[in-house]
Amino acid sequence: MHHFTYRDGELYAEDVAVRELAAQYGTPLYVYSTATFKRHFQAFDSAFADLHHLTCFSVKANSNLCILRLLSDLGAGMDIVSGGELFRALSAKVPARKIVYSGVGKRAEEIREALLADILMFNVESVDELRRINEIALEMDKVARISLRINPDVDPKTHPYISTGMEKNKFGLDIEQSLEAYKLAQTLPGIEPVGIDCHIGSQLTTLEPFLEALRRIKDFHKKLKTLGLDIRFLDLGGGLGITYDQEEPPHPKEFGQALVQELKDMDLTLILEPGRVIAGNTGILVTEVVYTKSTKTKHFVIVDAAMNDLIRPSLYQSHHGIAEVVPQQRPVRNVDVVGPICETGDFLARDRELPEVKSGELLAVFSAGAYGFTMSSQYNSRTRAAEILVDGANVILARKRETYADLVALERQCLQE
Ligand SMILES: *Cc1c(COP(=O)(O)O)cnc(C)c1O
Repeated sequence: MHHFTYRDGELYAEDVAVRELAAQYGTPLYVYSTATFKRHFQAFDSAFADLHHLTCFSVKANSNLCILRLLSDLGAGMDIVSGGELFRALSAKVPARKIVYSGVGKRAEEIREALLADILMFNVESVDELRRINEIALEMDKVARISLRINPDVDPKTHPYISTGMEKNKFGLDIEQSLEAYKLAQTLPGIEPVGIDCHIGSQLTTLEPFLEALRRIKDFHKKLKTLGLDIRFLDLGGGLGITYDQEEPPHPKEFGQALVQELKDMDLTLILEPGRVIAGNTGILVTEVVYTKSTKTKHFVIVDAAMNDLIRPSLYQSHHGIAEVVPQQRPVRNVDVVGPICETGDFLARDRELPEVKSGELLAVFSAGAYGFTMSSQYNSRTRAAEILVDGANVILARKRETYADLVALERQCLQE
């Protein structure tokens, strides 16, 4: 469910006409809905009301400061994967004790920053990393709370690039190695093992892989108990999918019920790291048709948004709904919606049935709230889009459009004598 609806023949974001936003702020333009964020966060978080839990939003899905602030005000913690995301979360005044830090390649400097901030815990993905965190903690006269990220070897049945919990993936430690790693952790004075972590992938559309992973983690937890470890946190990561096209993922409520059922006899605080399911359908990308052209075999709609703005179609062959901002009731055609970038892989949709559109008209690309702007780049020296957060009839400029000066700001020094 989201708050992008048609009223009086045109698309609205809550109580604001998308056409007016495009006129004022230009295109391509990301537009997010506050009410949708609230609704999604609350639906997810309340699904776990029966357990001690902390819902840590996955910052990489949408890291705009206004969004982090909004979610933090609703009670969310944050799951971060870099020093930059830590900086963003702290800038948005997220309490450090609600931040967990995942990722396979945390650098020493990033570990130092997180220890200094006193985050809730590190999700550690290798023995090397465990030793590194120990050394740094000792240097700083601190003790690092950690979970080990277990790779349960479960197939999440999603796109290979976003499968993370199979043996062949780079993430986490397998169960055998993990037991040894926990034993090691017990002996390291700079380390306090407080949790178990896993995250098996993204855009999962069935419950079974989650439950399979959870059962393996529960068995493992029993083994850990025999080591005398005081495990207080169970972090099950993120990954719940959304509907982009025809997918029918379980509702967060159903997801919550299934997990709560499995966990109710355990005296642990559950941590969840949802990204896409919170943010995915909170945002649209608004783009203007620049030209249309037809070849012998194809109709192209050339728009001013490109793979640098929204890379998901190119990278994952993913589907995003596309519709006119002001529908004109023209006949439908089969088209490719493409951007201006010099790559054949630059498309937003291929072989899509879309009403005929004309130069200057606006299209909305739906489900762009997660892994949209955060994956954007300046490729082809394109300035990154502006981001707008709508709240009822209020419009907040969440990120200004980049300028040409921004493109070269960090390079200027090479032209100075
Ligand atoms: C990406 C990621 C998430 C969020 O995944 P979603 O599919 O967006 O819910 C959570 N945890 C970790 C460790 C991640 O890498």
